[in-house]
Amino acid sequence: MGNFTMRLRQNVFLISLIAGLLLWLVYFSYASTRLRLVYFSYASTRLSRPDVSTTTKWLAPIVWEDAFDLTVIDNIYKPQNITVATTFFALGKYVRFLKDVLESAEQHFMVGYRVHYYVFTDLPDEVPTVTLGEGRQLTVIKTSSSNRWQEISLRRMEMIEKLIEDEVINKADYIFCLDVDSKFYAHWGAESLGDLVGVLHAWFFGTSRDQFTYERRPESQAYIPFNEGDYYYGGAVIGGRPDKVLKLVKTCRMNLDVDRANKIEAVWQEESHLNKYFLYNKPTKVLSPEYLWDDRKGKPSFMKVVRFSQVEKNYAEIRPNP
Ligand code: UDP
Ligand code: MN
Repeated sequence: MGNFTMRLRQNVFLISLIAGLLLWLVYFSYASTRLRLVYFSYASTRLSRPDVSTTTKWLAPIVWEDAFDLTVIDNIYKPQNITVATTFFALGKYVRFLKDVLESAEQHFMVGYRVHYYVFTDLPDEVPTVTLGEGRQLTVIKTSSSNRWQEISLRRMEMIEKLIEDEVINKADYIFCLDVDSKFYAHWGAESLGDLVGVLHAWFFGTSRDQFTYERRPESQAYIPFNEGDYYYGGAVIGGRPDKVLKLVKTCRMNLDVDRANKIEAVWQEESHLNKYFLYNKPTKVLSPEYLWDDRKGKPSFMKVVRFSQVEKNYAEIRPNP
């Protein structure tokens, strides 16, 4: 009798041990599958660009495709009902670029946000009629031209300065100043917004600092010595909060005036002065070359998307002087 009870107890113990082990095994495999699932779904949606740097040395973001979550970003900016002022200069024959750049902007640029385009031109009658989306408007500002393209290009600074002071500072939350000989090819949205925004020049991205075409003559206010400089920024895209961009254009305009008085013109006009400014006033957000490509340039693997690009033009035919 005693023996039987003991064997029964032993068996019950063994059976429950085995059942327990089995249950635990089933649970463990289930849990680990779940863990794997959770891990893989996290990994596949994880934002990462191991092939490029996504921050500067001063920890400003560098904006690349697959390194930001647009839903999260739009959830920040949409409720603020912001307005983005955007300037284009189209003097002389450059009016021909307006149609493409404006039409493509309507498809890709800050879609879903309020945009106020300001078009500076000496030929207001030649500004094309472009159908604008809801919340978007365009103002034409008549401007005198010049017989030197260098002068046209660099005088943009003082005209933007005046526009911000007279209008944009009270009416817009952000401003972008863009080259007109350009086209949008893909999304350019709120991920580009920041206090002070610069863009990495397509032709100098990845080249060594000594190859940057900074102004190298100490006589110019745009001078940058060979052992200094972070990036070579493109002059075709400047952006940020109106007060920050105002400070930038005012400083560049004053330095351009000093240079003019000293009869020196920086090698790349206002782009040289912009690079000098950004060296001492670091952008808080840096746009990758996705935001300023060049139609003539091949697309390396790090370029997952071209958002905005300089179109090909016949310099001799289009500029007022060689
Ligand atoms: N620009 C203009 N008319 C001219 C020359 C220049 O309106 O005759 C303006 C235009 O907005 C252009 C910008 O100045 O996008 C910069 O000039 P450009 O594009 O010729 O310089 P690049 O980008 O070739 O260095
Ligand atoms: Mn251009």
